[in-house]
Amino acid sequence: MHAGIEMGGTKTVVALGTAEGEVLEEVRFPTLDGPKTMEAALSWIADRGPVEALGVAAFGPVRVDRKAADFGTMLATPKPGWRDFSIRGAVEHRFPGLPFALDTDVNAAALAEADGEGNLAYITIGTGIGAGILTGGKLVHGVVHPEFGHWYPRRADGDDFPGVCPFHGDCLEGLASGPAMTRRWGAEPKDLPGDHDAWRFEVEYLAQAVISLLASCSPARVVIGGGVSQGERFHQAVEARVRALSGGYFPMADEAGFIFPPKYGQQAGIRGALLLAGRLGG
Ligand code: ZN
Repeated sequence: MHAGIEMGGTKTVVALGTAEGEVLEEVRFPTLDGPKTMEAALSWIADRGPVEALGVAAFGPVRVDRKAADFGTMLATPKPGWRDFSIRGAVEHRFPGLPFALDTDVNAAALAEADGEGNLAYITIGTGIGAGILTGGKLVHGVVHPEFGHWYPRRADGDDFPGVCPFHGDCLEGLASGPAMTRRWGAEPKDLPGDHDAWRFEVEYLAQAVISLLASCSPARVVIGGGVSQGERFHQAVEARVRALSGGYFPMADEAGFIFPPKYGQQAGIRGALLLAGRLGG
């Protein structure tokens, strides 16, 4: 039996399951501060008996480099009660010696969605925008981990919205996240009709984002998830725009159906946490 924890900005999912990512039992509760959230998660796991390994899929920024002295520590997050909190420390205190893996929530979701394939990018659009990247079977980290939401797109025609990112204004997250759409249009994305101009901009920026991933990481497939991507035909619209922007240059873009909604839906992250635990054995 393996254990997984997916820590999101508002809710935390804890599960027991298999090394292949199958969830057998799970519980969800609101994300509180670091110590309270980990205590609740680890107690739930402990009450269910011994586990072989634990995988954590965490919101960021978080140290994911296993060789770093502060591996598993939350970095400069604005979220109260999380900055400098060591997830690894909490796990080691509760379960000394338990094999432990940790990666970003989006990398975990990318791993789950890849289903054993080696090259996939996963984009989530919600309160923020992030991307997880699996290339050649490896999850991309870098010095900390990619922050794809803060990449700068080219402005869509007719768009003079200043953006909402507190650091950059009109980065991708500043222009296309859920809060950006709400601020710009005065309505939440789910309440904007499918023919609203909002979606023309949203499709444009997501298509540019996909092109930048094709250009930099060469994924075979791109999965787009998160609350803002739920609209009917959203994925087909992004794919059509990617094809136009590709200009015949990226072969993946010419294959119909390379952009998908997450096949595991809201379970992608927790499945990925279990897979992270499962990879420790191999
Ligand atoms: Zn930004």
